[in-house]
Amino acid sequence: MIIRAQRVVLPDEVAPRSIHISDGRIVDVAAYDDADGEIVEVGDESVVMPGLVDTHVHINSPGRTEWEGFHSATLAAAAGGVTTLVDMPLNSIPPTTTLAGFEAKLDQARNECFVDVGFWGGVVPGNTAELAPMFAAGVVGFKCFLVPSGVDEFKYVTEEHLRDAMPELSRLDALLIVHAELPGPIKTADVSSSDYRAFLESRPRAAENEAIELMIRLSREFNTRVHIVHLSSADAIPVLRKAQLEGVRITAETCPHYLHFAAEEIPAGATEFKCCPPIRERANREQLWEGLADKTIDFIVSDHSPCPGEMKLRESGDFMKAWGGIASLELRLPVIWTEARRRGFSLLDMARWLCANPAKQVRFDSRKGSIAVGNDADLVIWNPDAQFTVSAASLHHRHKITPYDREPLNGAVQKSFLRGRKIYDNGNIAGSPLGHMLLKQA
Ligand SMILES: [Zn+2]
Repeated sequence: MIIRAQRVVLPDEVAPRSIHISDGRIVDVAAYDDADGEIVEVGDESVVMPGLVDTHVHINSPGRTEWEGFHSATLAAAAGGVTTLVDMPLNSIPPTTTLAGFEAKLDQARNECFVDVGFWGGVVPGNTAELAPMFAAGVVGFKCFLVPSGVDEFKYVTEEHLRDAMPELSRLDALLIVHAELPGPIKTADVSSSDYRAFLESRPRAAENEAIELMIRLSREFNTRVHIVHLSSADAIPVLRKAQLEGVRITAETCPHYLHFAAEEIPAGATEFKCCPPIRERANREQLWEGLADKTIDFIVSDHSPCPGEMKLRESGDFMKAWGGIASLELRLPVIWTEARRRGFSLLDMARWLCANPAKQVRFDSRKGSIAVGNDADLVIWNPDAQFTVSAASLHHRHKITPYDREPLNGAVQKSFLRGRKIYDNGNIAGSPLGHMLLKQA
């Protein structure tokens, strides 16, 4: 099969190409006219990009499948042009903090996934001996929290716990990804408020900034590869940049909600906007874009973290007690394109932030994240000029509450292909759940 278009987003250029596909792989990226046989012609209004890679998705199954499961999450992924995602180790019961927990997760995911799925393990107090077995079994790396995670079965770690785990992570050359907020600056007083400002002030930038300073210090001491997840505080960007220039092995990601929304615009009681760390002020948002432009921040992931609607406490609108997490797996491409385009960024930036760099981080880049000979034929066809208004009810993830409801966006996903098979076509899911479990090669 051949997919050809006037605009194919390659690693270094956007150019007319014919993508030749055989046995699920890209076997040639040829001149546009070098095409005969079965051809999928892409209209001139659309572009072909690598299938998106989202390394930060909370699927919550087994144990909390009523929050989100592999079936519904991977349907949403397919509809959003995401062909590879990596599941977070918490919110499922058991969490992925032991080899047995990882096996329970795999049992749940097998035969349920419409896209390819990888898995993070977790670092929690006292599980250092579990890290090597989980890593050998194929988790891509390990996540820890420096503050309470929100669920009892996934405990947060202190510096003392990290001093136990990090030498082992270095020995394995495993990546440690960190929810970087420290408890000290966070106000946990048992209050209620439907005022977003009160919630924002309860989780100040200092909590993130101090956590990132701690992780830089520990990464330097133990030479562990560290990655900061969902960076929200722009104050930390110069600190990260300096550490990176000094050779500290630390990287960072941010998320669509920090790049699209602004605290000043969040209405009272609109708990669908609650996440931790919080969405901050407009000026902070612009500094995050600068951090992406100068490559201090490597890429953008959804941090899709849904829950049953009632846990958002929409009736009381209490920001302090509502579940923190934003559901956006299906919308990452249009949200980022809407914001990127108005700031002068290109399709090449999009492919770097949404595809190539996240694939590299989890070492899936020999198969995923770029349109290149030998890679899996994971592709998304989308129209950058199409405008649409989000209807939460038509999204595919389990619980439809999302702050993006009724948001006008640019960039519509038209078709997704996973290893050469069409899995999504203009509103319709095509085919059955044939996604692979992506286990890191030991
Ligand atoms: Zn998360």
